[in-house]
Amino acid sequence: ASEVQADYLNELNPPQREGVVNTEGPTMLIAGAGSGKTRVLTYRIAHLIQHHHVEPFSIMALTFTNKAAKEMRERIEKIVGNEARNLYMGTFHSVFARILRSEASRLGFPSNFTIYDTDDSKTLIRQIVKQMKLDDKLYKANVVLNRISAAKNRLVSWQDYLNNPIYAQDDADNMRPEMGKLYQTYVMRCFSADAMDFDDLLFNTNVLFQEHPDVLNKYQQRFKYLLIDEFQDTNISQYLIAKRLAAVRQNIAVVGDDAQSIYAFRGADIQNILNFERDYPDLKVIKLEQNYRSTKTIVNAANSVINKNTAQLQKNVWTDNDEGDLIELIKATSDNEEGKLIASAIFETKMQTQSSNAEFAILYRTNSQSRAMEEALRRNNLKYRVVGGLSFYQRKEIKDLIAYLRFIVNPNDEQAMRRSINLPKRGIGPGTIEKLVVVASEENQPLWNVMENAKSYLGGRGGNQVDEYVTLIKSFRLTAEKKDAYDTAALVAKNSGLLKELYADKTIEGMSRYENVQELLNAIKEFTDDKEREDKSLSAFLQEVTLLTDEDRSDSNEEAVTLMTIHMAKGLEFNHVYIVGMEEDLFPSQMMLSSRADLEEERRLFYVAITRAKKKLTLSYALNRYRFGRLKNCEPSRFLEEIDPRFIKVNKKFGSRAALSSAESYVTKNFVNNLKKDQSNRKFASAPQHKPSPDFQPSDTSGLQEGMRVEHAKFGFGKVTVIDAEGANKKAKVEFDTAGEKTLLLSFAKLRII
Ligand code: ATP
Ligand code: MG
Repeated sequence: ASEVQADYLNELNPPQREGVVNTEGPTMLIAGAGSGKTRVLTYRIAHLIQHHHVEPFSIMALTFTNKAAKEMRERIEKIVGNEARNLYMGTFHSVFARILRSEASRLGFPSNFTIYDTDDSKTLIRQIVKQMKLDDKLYKANVVLNRISAAKNRLVSWQDYLNNPIYAQDDADNMRPEMGKLYQTYVMRCFSADAMDFDDLLFNTNVLFQEHPDVLNKYQQRFKYLLIDEFQDTNISQYLIAKRLAAVRQNIAVVGDDAQSIYAFRGADIQNILNFERDYPDLKVIKLEQNYRSTKTIVNAANSVINKNTAQLQKNVWTDNDEGDLIELIKATSDNEEGKLIASAIFETKMQTQSSNAEFAILYRTNSQSRAMEEALRRNNLKYRVVGGLSFYQRKEIKDLIAYLRFIVNPNDEQAMRRSINLPKRGIGPGTIEKLVVVASEENQPLWNVMENAKSYLGGRGGNQVDEYVTLIKSFRLTAEKKDAYDTAALVAKNSGLLKELYADKTIEGMSRYENVQELLNAIKEFTDDKEREDKSLSAFLQEVTLLTDEDRSDSNEEAVTLMTIHMAKGLEFNHVYIVGMEEDLFPSQMMLSSRADLEEERRLFYVAITRAKKKLTLSYALNRYRFGRLKNCEPSRFLEEIDPRFIKVNKKFGSRAALSSAESYVTKNFVNNLKKDQSNRKFASAPQHKPSPDFQPSDTSGLQEGMRVEHAKFGFGKVTVIDAEGANKKAKVEFDTAGEKTLLLSFAKLRII
């Protein structure tokens, strides 16, 4: 540990140092952008290890992206050495997915449960909407998913949802009366597929901690220190997890900036900051006011904007840095011209200041704005990377292979089965697939059992074809048990026929798809070659992959201009920042604007964007833009008017300040006072699923009789009401105490006779 660095305390100002060295007890640091919050959190961890000799594995740090966690870890490593690897660090989702895997059985899940990504969730919802014969224009997958997601993030279980007349009324008002039923069915279907969606990772962690005090206690003992960055963007579900974990030792340190809260639409709430003060009366509050990131011009301009918000904590952010250049405003006639002007501005600055591409970022409100920028950058030979958008792991061929891998690990992963069963074409029709799923659901059997016995449910060819697929999957599963993720995946790519099919396609797209699959195999190889890693199984790899966020995948060492949405840019900094598309309806976004609170959130987003810039900020807008396939006239954003004019200059080459006058005449027409739904109705969730008794073992059911009490692995306790048929087809109707009446095929049902 010769490179270990000891003078880290000298790199902090007095209040920052206070935040680092007072490691005990609840601490909250709410401070403006660029004031060193993340640095305080990083050094606090280093100090715990270096000075107080706290074991790294008893420190949990929660960040907004896995990439942020990685950077923090590297920084800490520079101070304390490679011990830093044992820190428990990552996003809420990745950290608690890990814990859920260890404790899955408590919730009735296997430890190899699948994590459904948003696509899987939407596909499943579409299937349910169809099966329930609902109008798919009314029950759009993303509308339904958002509603379910919002409920989960408020810890409203489907039972609570169905029992609460407020939701029923609300859904009736929105002409979607079946929403509660959809929520219920969706949860059930995920459960029978042994799958959790992203929101479940938090929801179920809350259930786990609430209903299993022994589990909670174990982790309370283990994690002696809990730290959270970007605290303003945690939702109530995340907050409660943190609060429970820290309840015994109370060593919880949070840092954030209420002015940068930009996820209210996902349930994040300034309320958490206020709750924190209430929940920890002896809280130590630290204020930081000096900004180390940006020029005076940028800091003051950002202040002038955020001061327009009424719902902010009072802060006085200042900086000792240089005055710097004025903010530049570029006016373009069209979105394509905007791209050209930005690209040439970058090119010029790059030459004048001898900067590398990596020092430039283009930020926009929505992903679709990247296209014009990309074209222009390409024409100027400026290397760039787009963070977000259609990422590598969302490409069809990648999802195809991953579907195979998922189904190998989890034989009940319905979405993975649906995707892989006919790839390459095996002539298995949608009717056949549907039949398998329906049988499994009607007979309450694991999907895999039905598939293994496909021939008894499907006549003729269908049965044989499913049989072949089942045999193939079984052979892969055998490999997965013995070999690591790479060997298994390479075998699957080859023996499934996927690679061969792609190889045969000699179009440019086909070739690039083939290369992408090879690239995935490379990534898996890298995973298994990692010496630090203990678990090299396929299942470990899959877990890692599902929780990567888009920005985690991008290679930040590359010398490229960064393009991304403002949401993605949180916590980052660049010398030169370009915020494009400064137009009404685009930014602030029309879709998000239905109340004053929404406008304030858009303004905070603008504040986040401005404060990413270290040296120079440029803003641009276009007078015409293609949106949703039509050319539209645009008005400059009202936000341009909100910057104190002392800090801004209009680029004379391109426009004049007169162009802005139309923004002044903007009438705020959308200010409907949209009363927020009664938050006092948030109820804590009850567990949606039965957790089997610790000694649960299926009984021999040959002697099962009517009137007997039984326990089912998933449906819980119940009483047998009817026994039907004999032998392999013997069925029992069971009236379960909570899950209602079910008919079970006894040869498959996991029943315990009590
Ligand atoms: P954000 O609100 O955007 O997340 P932040 O408050 O987390 O910002 P940091 O990212 O920690 O701020 O710090 C901003 C910049 O200032 C970084 O480049 C950091 O290295 C630098 N910095 C922070 N504190 C100091 C200090 N005491 N001396 C010199 N530089 C500092
Ligand atoms: Mg930060």
